[in-house]
Amino acid sequence: MSPFFLLDYNAEYYFPPREKPRGIGAHPHRGLETVTVAFQGKIAHRDSAGNGGVIAEGDVQWMTAGSGILHNEFHEQEFSRNGGNMQMVQLWVNLRIADKMSSPAYQGIENQQMGKYKFDKTAGHADIISGTFKGVKGPAKSFTPVELYVLSLQKEAVIDFTLPEHFNTGILVVSGNIRVNGKTSAPVNHFVLFKNIGELISIEALDNCKILVMCGEPIDEPLASGGPFLMNTREEIQQAYDDYYNGKFGYLED
Ligand code: MN
Repeated sequence: MSPFFLLDYNAEYYFPPREKPRGIGAHPHRGLETVTVAFQGKIAHRDSAGNGGVIAEGDVQWMTAGSGILHNEFHEQEFSRNGGNMQMVQLWVNLRIADKMSSPAYQGIENQQMGKYKFDKTAGHADIISGTFKGVKGPAKSFTPVELYVLSLQKEAVIDFTLPEHFNTGILVVSGNIRVNGKTSAPVNHFVLFKNIGELISIEALDNCKILVMCGEPIDEPLASGGPFLMNTREEIQQAYDDYYNGKFGYLED
């Protein structure tokens, strides 16, 4: 589903209290952007470019690995100590050849900074992370054109919106149940992949529900992936490993 390469979904899961936070220690990325959307729980992040922060329920972290970065991703200390429900998505968005080796960057986007669109009556609202939804822009700067929204809909709401036909589009049902385009039902934790036919998408909320809409312009370039790297050739993947082992991605403590 270019330009998306990976959807790493942590469905709702209860983590019991723990003093030492669970997570992933320092590791590299190159050639992509990681976009982390928090629905429940708190994640702390630090990277070798000196950026860091905590993303909490409703927040998003948009990290451009570009030419190379080290980062770590752990449960936030207080969250870990108290335990609680975690529900997160991490997307890997590919970068075009022209953008692959750009400088690393970090955008911490709090929920209140997102574009907000209110549907008619009590149907619900949209949080716009990236792109434009019904004229409302999202704050994220992306290299590859990406439309990314979280829609919170009340039971029995029926809404529609349009997306470019040649972009690839998918919807993850984060909570509740929906019916798509009047025919396909999708319950919580299911993913709906759209064909590139037409622009109109209609959603009927069968319960109170929350959905993540992911849409992006495909990148028509050769793709080579290896571990945490997303490049165009096998040689570039090998180069990324060589650079990483030679310390060219900077330094970050676990
Ligand atoms: Mn990572």
